[in-house]
Amino acid sequence: MPEKIVIIGAGQAGQQAVQSLRSEGFTGAITMVGDEAYPPYQRPPLSKAYLLGSFERPRLFLKPDSFYADSGCELILSTTARAIHRADRTVELEDGRKLPYDKLLLATGARVRKLNCSGADLSGIHYLKTIADVDGLQAVFQAGKRIAIVGGGYIGLEVAAVGAKRGLDVTVFEAMDRLMARAVSPQISAFYASEHEKAGVKLKLRTGVEGFEGNGKVEYIKAGGQTYEADIVLVGIGVIPCQELAERAGLGCTDGIVVDQNARTSDPHIWSAGDCTRHVGREGHEIRLECVQNAIDQAKHAALSMTGKPKTYSEVPWFWSDQYDLKLQIAGLARPTDTLVQRGDPASRKFAVFHLRDGVVAAVEAVNAAPEYLVGKKMIAEGKMVAPEMLADTSIPMKQLG
Ligand SMILES: Cc1cc2nc3c(=O)[nH]c(=O)nc-3n(C[C@H](O)[C@H](O)[C@H](O)COP(=O)(O)OP(=O)(O)OC[C@H]3O[C@@H](n4cnc5c(N)ncnc54)[C@H](O)[C@@H]3O)c2cc1C
Repeated sequence: MPEKIVIIGAGQAGQQAVQSLRSEGFTGAITMVGDEAYPPYQRPPLSKAYLLGSFERPRLFLKPDSFYADSGCELILSTTARAIHRADRTVELEDGRKLPYDKLLLATGARVRKLNCSGADLSGIHYLKTIADVDGLQAVFQAGKRIAIVGGGYIGLEVAAVGAKRGLDVTVFEAMDRLMARAVSPQISAFYASEHEKAGVKLKLRTGVEGFEGNGKVEYIKAGGQTYEADIVLVGIGVIPCQELAERAGLGCTDGIVVDQNARTSDPHIWSAGDCTRHVGREGHEIRLECVQNAIDQAKHAALSMTGKPKTYSEVPWFWSDQYDLKLQIAGLARPTDTLVQRGDPASRKFAVFHLRDGVVAAVEAVNAAPEYLVGKKMIAEGKMVAPEMLADTSIPMKQLG
């Protein structure tokens, strides 16, 4: 009997796994189950060019439909997998169907964290994760509307940038004292705060949201002891890994499905990849990453392991964010104790912040600075040591430092 692989979750990691399983020579049956109505698509444009209207829907799809047929992958869409029966190695679907597997990949991603304050269930309060979410937001995302954005992280700020560009009246409410505080250095936060303010976005830092009011539909947002009028609310306060299936099946989970460096769970027949996982990163600490890089690379490693060619996953994480005409590219994982070295002048709108740990490049944040990002990423991978004054000296080309 040919081997059967079932993939739960038809997203970035699921699609990559299908591609990698075939390129690694797997000839058995592949079935991918997804609860959304669409085949795998890329989410990054949702809060960027797709919301702006400059990116057509067909371009969102990671592969044409023919890819799945050509790859011999059965796609079961609009269907939730509701249980994993490990003893008889089957996946149970919501319609009662049972899919037998020899090997299983959990690529269930993460869901948006929801607000649970008063009025949080009023209409007009939006979240952004899926094509359907953007379609719902698009209908009201019109010039002149007042949009209150809860959360000054990547998603909130990308939507703020698109909103400002499209003529909405944008206010961002952020409980922390700076933007993207969990993800970037203070220099980058300050630069982006100034760019948003220049574009007319009102920033309310240190302002936690207390609740919403309105007659069926949101009309007011209460935050920091004050009340503000709003026509639309967009909430971007992070995500929660979709680990319930794994948990119920008794797999190890701790804020993410725990996997080893071959993307294998505590069950030798089950692997997991992408936003839903927690793994020991290249620096030896447990991490849960929410980015395209991890979804792709971990799925590739899962496929290698599933086909009997295990390879340790220790890639440098990378991420990007587009706001206005600014491309922020980040590689590596920063720590608050790192020594920060700035290269270039933020006023030129082209600069980078390097994070050095014991003299070694540990992370880089580059704004419109591709060489700094690319060479920085290579330096991180190689554990390169560099003198801070040389790194800060823009008269020395990056390629000379790398
Ligand atoms: C608006 C937005 C912008 C982003 N921008 C960036 C960016 O600029 N750069 C970057 O690196 N990353 C970005 N990301 C993050 C990136 O998209 C994710 O890290 C990536 O999609 C993770 O891939 P995944 O396969 O793990 O999960 P997903 O792509 O989310 O796929 C998981 C799929 O599994 C489905 N599923 C879950 N449970 C079940 C079940 N029981 N049965 C069936 N199906 C199930 C989910 O509905 C989903 O369709 C962004 C994300 C969003 C939402």
